[in-house]
Amino acid sequence: MERLQKVIAHAGIASRRKAEEMILEGRVKVNGSVVKELGRKVTPSDRVEVDGVQIEGEEPVYFLFYKPRGVISSVQDDKGRKVVTDFFQTIEQRIYPVGRLDYDTSGLLLLTNDGEFANLLMHPSNEIDKVYVAKVKGIPSKEKLTSLARGVMLEDGKTAPAKTKMLSVDKKKDTAIVEITIHEGRNRQVRRMFEAIGHPVLKLKREKYGFLTLNGLRTGEIRELTHHEVKQLR
Ligand code: URA
Repeated sequence: MERLQKVIAHAGIASRRKAEEMILEGRVKVNGSVVKELGRKVTPSDRVEVDGVQIEGEEPVYFLFYKPRGVISSVQDDKGRKVVTDFFQTIEQRIYPVGRLDYDTSGLLLLTNDGEFANLLMHPSNEIDKVYVAKVKGIPSKEKLTSLARGVMLEDGKTAPAKTKMLSVDKKKDTAIVEITIHEGRNRQVRRMFEAIGHPVLKLKREKYGFLTLNGLRTGEIRELTHHEVKQLR
């Protein structure tokens, strides 16, 4: 999402200031309707016209990124920490992440400049399965994993049913590796779910997003989604 005047300025039609004037003068349309407020935000899929002439939209692009730990899922950070788009500096389009992974979470993250696509994927009704592998403190019992799978009560309500699978245990270190599949996307959800059963997460990685995996990528690497993959996700 970008401010309308910024989009017009980026398209090289006018300075940002001049673009603001054009908006106030009623010369700018978004999806066929005149927009006179300066606060309006648009996505690359919105059709913007100035004096009846359509601005060329950016070509939509879709990427799969293996996010390392210690990176913010955002396009900028006011504390100067590394952000995901730092890994995409050779890419001209103004891309942003589809949802978020925590600063300390690694794994699969999609980025695009296609707002409609991003909204579609993030919409709760879409119920896309996301598979996480969590290293947790202590060794959760079968009962605890079953209660997690049935749904646990968090501050923002009960979680939808999940799938859980114990992958390994380290009795000496008193830790376990658990795979968990959820389709909701609440803030810090997996961490909060494990906290709720008394086994805080020590390390977290997203392995899968729907049918997409990290296969062939190392941490910090990127690949473009194929047309077929984008079509399948829609
Ligand atoms: N759940 C979390 O707790 N953290 C993430 O980054 C993703 C899902």
